[in-house]
Order: sequence, then structure tokens, then C-alpha cells
Amino acid sequence: MANQIEANLREQLIDRHQQLEAAIINHGESAQLRQLLHEVDAALGRLKNGSYGLCEVCHDPIETDRLLAYPLVRFCLDHLTPREQQALERDLDLAAQIQTKLLPERDFAFGGWQVGYHYEAFGPVSGDYCDLVCAEDGNLYFMLGDVSGKGVAAAMVMAQLHAMFRTLIPMRLTVCQLVERANNLFCESTLPMHYATLVCGRAGNSGTVEICNAGHLPILWLNGGEVRDIKASGLPVGVFYNQEFSSISVQLAPDDALLLYTDGFSESQDSTGEEYGLERMANLVSNDRMTLPKALIDRCLVDLKKFRSGTRKSDDLTIMAIRYTQL
Ligand SMILES: [Zn+2]
Repeated sequence: MANQIEANLREQLIDRHQQLEAAIINHGESAQLRQLLHEVDAALGRLKNGSYGLCEVCHDPIETDRLLAYPLVRFCLDHLTPREQQALERDLDLAAQIQTKLLPERDFAFGGWQVGYHYEAFGPVSGDYCDLVCAEDGNLYFMLGDVSGKGVAAAMVMAQLHAMFRTLIPMRLTVCQLVERANNLFCESTLPMHYATLVCGRAGNSGTVEICNAGHLPILWLNGGEVRDIKASGLPVGVFYNQEFSSISVQLAPDDALLLYTDGFSESQDSTGEEYGLERMANLVSNDRMTLPKALIDRCLVDLKKFRSGTRKSDDLTIMAIRYTQL
């Protein structure tokens, strides 16, 4: 364990020891306080003899982030006690419920737009970001992104993106300004190894869509029987402070649609290791006509399932379809 982390943990433990002693003096000795004091002192003892931070079952190092959050842990994730396992599962269940609450309505219609999406986490929670906001200016904002990494840490960053865009959208900024502000907030508040590829779009009543694609996969534009792609025009969010972003404006015709997805969809592999790929996706949707976004997404999911033919998923997966129907 790095010296700095060890020093930090020792400090935390000594602090807890003092707090517990003070509590015992002020409130009288209880079995619970005595037990906690015993655990803290045992951890300090392990720090002294060099066994601190090693799992008591397998003797491998315990995950550092868990030690920092709770310096009394004695087992690695693989060797939790049944009670610890249950507590962890409850935490994750709750986190998953909170994340579900952050998602927009399933079948969404606003102005001349219909939207559907499918959101599927690899584990209990997802690092994909997906949101729809009807703004007071009459525009529909759609966001879809992918935070680096997976699991709880990525999900926390996802929740942060959600809050940032929800706060910034009423400020009536351009999509570039929105992404630029979000990028700076992101750089200020997340760990340096985190970044997110994302698409932020603003769809107006006349079918005009302004899109900023920050390092994300190409968007498919189903344009009267033809499939075009809208590629990334900049780096992901969270790479450099004060980064500038650019946008493009496209004019959708009635019944045109945009298809956005994360790599959990396009980079899914079959049993031979081959990737699903953009071409297969474009071919699949090229003859789509006027189906509801939900039907379009279902078709993509059915085809992906066929392609995977039973291989396990390996990433968070999100796909969103936005159709212009005219008012
Ligand atoms: Zn272990």
C-alpha cells in the first residue's frame, strides 16, 4: 500500500479511536461502543504488524477504494462475510433504483418528435448516460453518452452528467456552449481518469437538429431510404479543461430518424469474437419507414440477439431512436 494512503488510514483510525473513547466517557460504556473500539484498535494493530489491508481469507490486498471508504474492512470483495455481502447487495439495489429514476419517460413525444430508447446495464448499474429534456424554448434536448469504465464509479459520473445538463439546459445556451460548460464542470469535479463520450442534440419544431458529437460513435441518420452518419467532431468530455467543441446542423425531413447508441451495442461480439459493427446496423435500418421509434429499437435488439447467439453481454448498452413526425 502506498505510504500516503497508509498514513491517511492511520490518521482516520486514530481519529475514530479518540472519538469512541470520548463517546464512552460522555455517554457511558455500551457493548456496541466497546466492540467498535476493539475493531479500531485491532486495525491499528494490523497496521503496526504489516498485515493491514490484506484479506484474512486469501491474504491478497483488499481493494484500496473500499479501505479508504471503510478502514475496518478485513476481507476482499471475493471473501465478504454473508452479512457484508447482503449489505453490499442492498446498496447496489438502491443505487440501481436511483439510476432508473434518472431515466426519461420510455415513450416520449414532444413537438414534432417521437423518441424511444433501450437502456441496459452490464451489472447492477450503468455508466451510460441517456436523457431527454423538453425545454421552455420549445426545443427537445437529447443526450446520450458513455462514461469511461463500468460499475458504480461510472454510474456516479453518469448521475453527475445528468444533473449538469439538467441545470445548464434552461440557460438557453447553444449545444456547443452546453457541452463546453459541462466539460469544465466535469474536469473540475471528477477523477482525472474519467471522461465521457457524448452526443448532445437540440431538436426544433421545424425538423432542424443541432448536434454536438463529443468523441462519441457516429449517429445514424435515416434519411428517406438512405443512411448517413454524423461523426464525432471533437474529443470526449473531461479530457482537457477549456476545450472547445463544434456542432453541426442537419435538417430532417418528415419521417426521418436519428439512431444513437453506445459501444455496448455496436461492439457486441459473437462467439467468434467478431463485432456487430456499424455496417450491419446501417443495413438493418436502411429500409425502415415510418415505424415508431420503439419498433425500430426492438428490431435492432432482435437482430443483435440473433448476432450474439447466446454470447454474454460485456458492456452497458443503450440505444435511442428519434423520429421527426412534423407537428
Ligand atoms: Zn480474499
